[in-house]
This record gives sequence, C-alpha cells and structure tokens, in this order.
Amino acid sequence: MNKNTQPTQAPQYKNAVRQNTQSQPAKKRRRKIRFKPNKEGMLALIALLVIVALAVTLIVFVAKGIIYLANNTQDETTASSDNNQPPATLPWNNAYISDPRSNTDVAAGELILVNFKNDYELTDTLKSKLTKLSERDSYKKEGYYVLSALDLGIRTDIIEQLDSMLIALVDANPETLGKQKGTDRLLISSGYRDIQKQTELYENRKEENYVALPKQSEHHTGYAVDIQVFKADQSTVHLRPEEQSWMEAHCAEYGFILRYDGSKHELTGILDESWHYRYVGVPHATYMMEHSLCLEEYLEKLRTSHSYDKTPLEFSVGETDYLVYYVPATENATLTEIPVPPASEGTYTISGDNMNGFIVTVTKAS
Ligand SMILES: [Zn+2]
Repeated sequence: MNKNTQPTQAPQYKNAVRQNTQSQPAKKRRRKIRFKPNKEGMLALIALLVIVALAVTLIVFVAKGIIYLANNTQDETTASSDNNQPPATLPWNNAYISDPRSNTDVAAGELILVNFKNDYELTDTLKSKLTKLSERDSYKKEGYYVLSALDLGIRTDIIEQLDSMLIALVDANPETLGKQKGTDRLLISSGYRDIQKQTELYENRKEENYVALPKQSEHHTGYAVDIQVFKADQSTVHLRPEEQSWMEAHCAEYGFILRYDGSKHELTGILDESWHYRYVGVPHATYMMEHSLCLEEYLEKLRTSHSYDKTPLEFSVGETDYLVYYVPATENATLTEIPVPPASEGTYTISGDNMNGFIVTVTKAS
C-alpha cells in the first residue's frame, strides 16, 4: 500500500512545483505590458476611450429622446381625453327647459315698471285680485293701523307680507305708535287706485308734483301702499325718524322697497316720497335696497348685463341662493319660450317688466 501511495503523491508535488516555476515568467510578461506599453497598445487605448465616449454620448441622446417621447405621449393622452370628455364646468343653463308665456304677460307680475314712460293698462281688470285691508284682524281686532278708506285694497297675493310688515313696524316702535284711539296710529293712506280715482286725484293736486298722471301711478298695480301716521290730534304726518329708519332697514325682508328716492328723481319722474312703498318680492327688494338701485336702474341692469344669453345675476339672501335673468319677449309673436330650470335645479317665478321682456327669478335648490 505504501509503495503504491508514495509514487502517486510525488508527481502531484512535482506538478505543483512545475506550475509554480511556469507561472513566474507569465507574471513577468504581464508586467511588461502594463508598464511599458508599445505604440500599438497606446493607439488601442485611445481608440477604446473614443469608443467609450461615443457610446456615452449616444446613450445620453437616446435617453433624452425616450424622455421627450414619453412626455409628448403623456400630453397627447391628456389632450385627447379632454376632447372626449365634457368640460369640468357646464354652462349655467345647460339643462334648462322652456316655459312658454303669452306676450300679454309682459304687463303682469311683481316687477312691472309703471312710471312717466310706462303706462299701466290693466288696472281696471285687477279688482278681483284685491283684498280690503279693513278685513284683516290686525285692523279689525288688534288696531295695528287705521285706513283712509274702508274699501282700501291691496293685491291678495301680497297682503300677508304687507300685514306682517305693518305689525312689525308698530311692535318695533311702542313708544311712538299705539293701537288704541287717542294714540298716534299707523295710517295706510293709499293702496290700489283705479283710473277714475287717479284722475280725480291728479286734477285736484297736480300742482304738488307728487301725483302721477292716470295710468302712470304705481297705485294702479295693487303693489303700492302709502304709509303715514295719524296723530292723536287727528293730523296726518310722515313716519318719524325712528319709524322711517325701521322701515328702510326692514321693508325688504317683507318684499317691499322705498320706491322714490329724491336723488333718483330724473329716472323715476317722482320727487322724494318717504311714505310710498312698493312690493317687488324679497330677493329683488333686498338687492335693490342693499345696492341703492331704484326699480328703473335694477331692471336696466338685468336687461343689459343679465339677459339669458349672458350670465345671470346671482346673490343670496340669508341661506337662500337666487339667480335672476332677463328674457326679451319674442317680437311679432303671441308667445315667448322662456328658458327655465328643471325642478332638480330649483323653483322659479316669472314676471313681466311692463316694457318688452320677462324676468325669471330662480330660487336655487339647496
Ligand atoms: Zn303712493
């Protein structure tokens, strides 16, 4: 066994030694190449560096190209998706539908303008739409006001608002206004007037410059009321400063405006009338009082800046949002197709302006 193993180990060792001795010259050759490069080696190295530089430049170019293409593709995707989808904000009247109205209705509604330029023709057809203030409990039982005539009427559809305003005015001024005989009482000195009544009044008082011509008085509409004070000494006076201040601060809450401001005389044709209040509805009254606009100015603003083909007038009163716009009556036709919102977007009312169009008032759905 020993004889056999000895010889096999010996050549292995010799081989290792041989390998060792053979590796010495190889190392020496490699050192020669590293430390003493010849001309060809240098050229090869330079060529290699140039190739590496070119490769890096190419990679940078390709990378830039890929980034550019990626960005462009992204833009196109965004653009094409914009074209396919509706814009984020739809037009305000996108879902509007039509409510046709007779063009004779231009003369009807709480926003009708009656002045020295606009006659009111329907006054003698109104009587069935009036309620006498003498029938109200606030007059009959509670004595909140006195009347210049027992048949003094006001439009039935606004009588609740008027009555509530008169009661609140008296309750807010207990030191100056009473509810019994022998005290200063609120006086409703005028409401609805027919043509005959206005003609008599005009003939008797035209030199005062306060009484409008027949057909040109707001009292024909049933929307106007004159409020004064009937004193304990039986004289009639205008509202005193505290009472007047309360009215100017609160009348809009009941849908009324102080109609004639002396500074707007050229527009209204009427001098200052601190006693004359006109019903136009809560949103319009609030907007007009807050912006010091008379009815002539407000209707002009709606007609010129807030017609249906432009943008509506939008504002809020308390928690309620309103949207108001003007629609001209269709010429040479009996009907006007008035665009109105679907029920899902709110409720609406339509009033004529007694000139040539309609005003739509939308109470927006909350
Ligand atoms: Zn009046």
